[in-house]
Amino acid sequence: MRIWARRLLVGAGIIAVGIGFVGYVADDGTVGSPLASRIAHGEVDSILPSLVPSLVLSEAVAEADHNATGREGGELPRHATPFETHLPGIANLDAALLIAVQAAARDAAEDGVPFWVTSGWRSAAYQQQLLDEAVEEYGGLEEARRFVATPSTSNHVTGRAVDIGPTDADSWLSQHGSAYGLCQTYANEMWHFELATEPGGICPAMLSDASEMQ
Ligand SMILES: [Zn+2]
Repeated sequence: MRIWARRLLVGAGIIAVGIGFVGYVADDGTVGSPLASRIAHGEVDSILPSLVPSLVLSEAVAEADHNATGREGGELPRHATPFETHLPGIANLDAALLIAVQAAARDAAEDGVPFWVTSGWRSAAYQQQLLDEAVEEYGGLEEARRFVATPSTSNHVTGRAVDIGPTDADSWLSQHGSAYGLCQTYANEMWHFELATEPGGICPAMLSDASEMQ
């Protein structure tokens, strides 16, 4: 993001925080500051959760940088949850997919199942990096493409795929995913899910592996 735009966002945040504290005159004539008083009464932990995520989300969505690698290119820390929308790999997911995955994660948690996004949106550069690494690992492009799609075919690059872990979460999601429209789409990747049916619908037949995506 250009530095002036970042400053504008930060500035907007500071102004919003300021408005929250400056206060207001209520209809009954009393003077108060809604946010400050809610913090004082323990209803709001701090001003940060209410303001910062939306700012960061808009920043990440506006800047899906396909040349970026590392965290900006979508690489996720271990045990990232679908609620960590400050991470570009989460924030740049297709909005409908993100909502479905968040709903599934909430219900999995109620069943006592930990639920992490091990990979979400990826920049084209990050996808290429993963493909290059797979070519090294599997000894050739043809074999590598069975597990890692190219930047032009990967649904991670379009933000329409998530990899879920650990294995318990994969099993939970293969059992319950269709209730949210979430389907395993490759037979050889039990962790890879896409929005592939209506909520409560029937998942389509799986492709055998990612190399079938041309
Ligand atoms: Zn995947």
